[in-house]
Amino acid sequence: MTMCPPPRPAVRPLAPASVAVVLGTRPELVKLAPLIHELGDATRLVHTGQHWDEAMSGRFLRDLGLPRPELLTGVGGRPRAGQIAQSLGQLDAAFAEDRPAAVVVQGDTNATLAGALAANAREIPLVHVEAGLRSFDRAMPEEHNRVMVDHLADLLCAATGENAANLRAESLDEQRITVTGNTVVEVVRRQLPEDTDRAALLARHGLAADGYVLATVHRPENTDTAAALGAVLAELDRIARAGTPVLFPMHPRTRAAVERFGLDALLARIAVTGPVGYAEFLGLARHAALLVSDSGGVQEECTVLGRPLLVVRRSTERPEAVDAGFAALVQPGEELGALARSWLADSPERLAALAATPSPYGDGLASARIARLTAQLAEGPLAAAA
Ligand code: UDP
Repeated sequence: MTMCPPPRPAVRPLAPASVAVVLGTRPELVKLAPLIHELGDATRLVHTGQHWDEAMSGRFLRDLGLPRPELLTGVGGRPRAGQIAQSLGQLDAAFAEDRPAAVVVQGDTNATLAGALAANAREIPLVHVEAGLRSFDRAMPEEHNRVMVDHLADLLCAATGENAANLRAESLDEQRITVTGNTVVEVVRRQLPEDTDRAALLARHGLAADGYVLATVHRPENTDTAAALGAVLAELDRIARAGTPVLFPMHPRTRAAVERFGLDALLARIAVTGPVGYAEFLGLARHAALLVSDSGGVQEECTVLGRPLLVVRRSTERPEAVDAGFAALVQPGEELGALARSWLADSPERLAALAATPSPYGDGLASARIARLTAQLAEGPLAAAA
């Protein structure tokens, strides 16, 4: 993969609070944190409130050292169109009152799309971080969000060459596309606790390094029906019965689905917690013999942590982790169970091979590249910097 050259010395400093970074969910906080640090006081952080509570946002803002955001109101808990409409109206008013020099959005959430539409409506330059992901699954609302945002954005920061190829295949202008790498590399490196803290963390959970499964499941395809969620939980239960501890930090949506469908009995042998903080999650993931997840972010993080992942999904917009040997896509039932047993059986060899495999997501300089490109887009480079 050829990436744009590493960042050169700065362009003209951006004015304070001149770059609006619009986000609304946990993965956006995680992935945008290194870029927000690069932008420094040029950041104007706007949280739409899509997932606004202590466990999913408050703790992440603090732990990632992020500034206090402007918080939109009345967005969380609505259906998709309501979230986008509520966010868009408030963003438009905020941008009319105080026009940013650029707007940055990341990924594929309703907050991402609302931020992109608000920038477009006011003709403000738009940066899309993690451009060009495609699952080619039109049943996923996220696929529609990311396609629309890519077509609106002025600067498309593709994490990988494959992502850039997806953008070219949709005839997007070459000048708008740059391969930057993925900011996940630097956020994982910075947030992963030190060895001794990780040892203490495992001791607190009663887990042995390389000896447990860490699971997260929250997507609608796995939580909307009793059959789908029951199939995942039954396989996790079988793994636990066979003697490998399973730790499951449960997303609020999954918790609600377990209660709605009466699936509590399947959790009897699984160690269930609420969502954990980011550093804690990384520390736990770093030593798991196996990860089981439907999360997008975990598909990238496993490549930096060198851990195997079974992706419980119909499709993925992140084929790089599969191609590099870190991950495999599985159906929620027997296929998940069979592959989990097989991967746990050859765990030492698999872990050794993955430890020696580089992440396909870049060199840890993505956020520095994106900050520089954003500054250029917002204000133009200083002639003197050339
Ligand atoms: N994560 C976390 N605590 C948890 C579970 C997940 O910090 O208890 C992190 C995980 O490492 C990843 C992000 O949350 O960076 C993923 O969020 P989510 O699964 O909600 O979204 P997705 O990545 O699927 O868009």
